[in-house]
Amino acid sequence: MMNRAEEDYIKTIYELTIEKKQPLMKTNELSERLGFSDQSINEMIKKLEKKNLVSFIPYKGISLTNKGKQVAIRMVRAHRIWEVFLTEKLGMPWESVHVDAEMLEHATSPEVLEKLYHYLGDPKYCQHGNPIPNLKGQMNPISVTSLDEMNIGDTFKITRVMDYKELLVYLNQHEIKLNDTYQIKSKDTFNGLLIISDHQKEKTITVKTAKMLFGHKMS
Ligand SMILES: [Zn+2]
Repeated sequence: MMNRAEEDYIKTIYELTIEKKQPLMKTNELSERLGFSDQSINEMIKKLEKKNLVSFIPYKGISLTNKGKQVAIRMVRAHRIWEVFLTEKLGMPWESVHVDAEMLEHATSPEVLEKLYHYLGDPKYCQHGNPIPNLKGQMNPISVTSLDEMNIGDTFKITRVMDYKELLVYLNQHEIKLNDTYQIKSKDTFNGLLIISDHQKEKTITVKTAKMLFGHKMS
């Protein structure tokens, strides 16, 4: 049996592996994302290793075993399917679904999840642009190019945003949405500012925000 904290760790390792496109995660990369100390991360990794969910190579990093990957896919899948339900069917805003999806993902039987998935029309992405894996773990591509990696003149579509409440509220206030198209007008690297434009309005965002938004380059 796994508890919720263990499932969340497994899920985070899986998500980081895909986002960063690297097979091994370092302890500090996990602590950055989870907000726990390196020491508590190491303790949890030992527990997960005993359960054959992760393997840890000293000085190299942490990876999921096949068993761990199965757990992660189940969690990520449930989380994102519930998010689609909460936003599309219950009309909840995208900044408010994370906490409920966190609770529901741990409480959903495989049968209910499959019924829910088909009921929603087999969605490929959640409202934050994260791909929903199928039962084998296959999924549509995930956008990994952040806006601060783009060049002046690039036109792009926003295809993924980090699922952080403060960020999503900020995006609402500035009317920045998923699938919007923008062009990079200028970059002020010294002050850490980017100006983006949707051909009607220019918007100034910080590098901090730009690192949490991902896009698909159109030109
Ligand atoms: Zn999401």
